[in-house]
Amino acid sequence: MTTGTRRDYYDILGVSRDASAGDIKAAYRRLAVQYHPDRNPDDPDAEENFKEASEAYAVLSDTDKRARYDRFGHQGLGSEGFTGFDPNAFGDFADILGDLFGFGDIFGGRRRGGGQRSRRGHDLQYTLRLKLEEAATGIERPIRVPRFEGCERCSGSGSEPGTTPENCGTCQGSGQVAFRRGFLSVAQTCPTCGGAGRVNRDPCGDCEGRGRTEKEVTLNVTVPAGVDTGMRLRLAGEGEAGSMGGPAGDLFVVMAIEEHDLFQRDGVDLHLELPVSVFQAMLGAKVPIKTILGEEAEIAVNPGAQPGEVVRLSGSGMPDVNDRRRGDLYVHLRVVVPARLTSEQRKLIEEVAELGGGLEPEVDRGFFERLRRAFGGE
Ligand SMILES: [Zn+2]
Ligand SMILES: [Zn+2]
Repeated sequence: MTTGTRRDYYDILGVSRDASAGDIKAAYRRLAVQYHPDRNPDDPDAEENFKEASEAYAVLSDTDKRARYDRFGHQGLGSEGFTGFDPNAFGDFADILGDLFGFGDIFGGRRRGGGQRSRRGHDLQYTLRLKLEEAATGIERPIRVPRFEGCERCSGSGSEPGTTPENCGTCQGSGQVAFRRGFLSVAQTCPTCGGAGRVNRDPCGDCEGRGRTEKEVTLNVTVPAGVDTGMRLRLAGEGEAGSMGGPAGDLFVVMAIEEHDLFQRDGVDLHLELPVSVFQAMLGAKVPIKTILGEEAEIAVNPGAQPGEVVRLSGSGMPDVNDRRRGDLYVHLRVVVPARLTSEQRKLIEEVAELGGGLEPEVDRGFFERLRRAFGGE
């Protein structure tokens, strides 16, 4: 490090002593653009200015170093002050310079190191359509899943059996190449082998060197009773094969329960609309039904039941997927008035109607009051 008169870091960056971190960064960025050696080839002054600005920025962007510099000046930093430009020492340079000169991966690439990179296989998603009855009982179902599997012929290596991939000549197997940008030495993913470090002279005939082939596999899925739309079952390791020996991904089976003709689901409860004749509603009746699990049940319609009345059968709904306790079944009565009558029926009902008394609709007086107001009578 040179000794002698050293310029003030704030002067170098052209900022005041109370400049914010953002001001300091912006000032450095401006100078870095102006003096970067790439833009000023063969100009030793520019390179000197660039180093000076980088040194000032390294100190002033570090809260601790800046505090010591503010109190003690250059002496405050002692021997650890600044010992040359090492971009890896300051993560911040990566995002300032990386996007500035368009080699986004340079610093990141170096940190990661070279060599073979194994990668976990992708997770897969499979939508399983089920009838509501199947969701209620639970079901075992074979599904056919197209996915990438490790190639059998080459055991996933990608090279023809009996041959071995050679070290990449460009990067000597490290997966990274170093090159100089101005006075910066930077590492980048090897363009020849894509970072693998090896090149395949004899690619496997089955997978063309990819190490994986697309296959359709049949898997048995056990769906527990009570699943609902959107619930996912995870089949660990049944996703796509990893590459370079990485683990396989997972397979997620997503439930999609079809609408049912009769039953509407609300969580663990079910709703059913039950048509009953006006006579059943008037006289009362027992109406046989079947639950979602096919159990025989009987709905007790009370004499005088009204349209929309609800009869609850507790414990006849869907099973809870967690504890299998069942929800309730709500039966909504739909009273059906016969659309036509035989002349004999008509005669008898006319007689009933003439009896009157209690067969008139039981509506509260308030109803007629509200009706009059609604239609402007008064
Ligand atoms: Zn193969
Ligand atoms: Zn290479």
